[in-house]
Amino acid sequence: MSATGRAGYEYNYEFSVDDEIVLRYNYTLVPGKKTFLFEIRTIFILKKTDGVDEIMGSERCFAEISVNGEQEAELLFGFNWLASYRLKEYWMTEEDIARFDQDAIDFTKEIEADPGRAHRRTVPIGIYLKVCTVQQEGEEVGPALERVIRAEKLIPLYVYPLQMGLENGPPPAIPLGDMFRVFLWELERTRVEDLNQGLAMMQDCGVCLRAPIVGDQISVLPSCGHAMHSHCIVGSLLEKRECPLCHSLVTFDPMAAYANFDPADYEMSKTLA
Ligand SMILES: [Zn+2]
Ligand SMILES: [Zn+2]
Repeated sequence: MSATGRAGYEYNYEFSVDDEIVLRYNYTLVPGKKTFLFEIRTIFILKKTDGVDEIMGSERCFAEISVNGEQEAELLFGFNWLASYRLKEYWMTEEDIARFDQDAIDFTKEIEADPGRAHRRTVPIGIYLKVCTVQQEGEEVGPALERVIRAEKLIPLYVYPLQMGLENGPPPAIPLGDMFRVFLWELERTRVEDLNQGLAMMQDCGVCLRAPIVGDQISVLPSCGHAMHSHCIVGSLLEKRECPLCHSLVTFDPMAAYANFDPADYEMSKTLA
């Protein structure tokens, strides 16, 4: 299956049943419910016009969702809530994400229909996702490399309510507290759709010193108003809770973080983290 929502990017994915997922992760069995285990394995690829594909890295994340019986809506909601954080980072469009979610749910329904699995309490689904940055006709390799979507240019996975894959090691403890973590993952991110819009937000990033390019995500610190790449500022704040430019303490209103926050989600994130 594939999605090509945006010029210069495409996404290919397939689903499979993978019983090894059951062994690889800690998950919770909820009495009377079925637990769906999703492992998303992402490979970042640069597709060049000379026909050569370059692998630019990979990452793995895991989500578990427990639902009653055949409750598709509940499953769809849970899956969307968990996966869309990361799929948005891959710059998939809302339509791409909706289709991806529906494809995932359709696949789980197929598996559920298999009488051989009916008695099982877990449904382990592996999702292979290729996030491809496609070099365009007339585009040099350099600029294509600059805009490649890859793990280093994304918010670290462990900020989200998802588990990191074993290949990346256990998630590091975030020393800044749970509410600060919520602040980080809810920090507003603006995708640069054209250069003037990006330059209006920042001339260059205070952390990596690069000028914005189309596709970058930029965040503005609410406490001092300084703008930087989202992944740069989150990386910096995970080390030290101050603005890298003006060195002011980064403050946030815990109640504002709560405002968008459903306590049920928080419980879910705690079991996953
Ligand atoms: Zn930066
Ligand atoms: Zn500042």
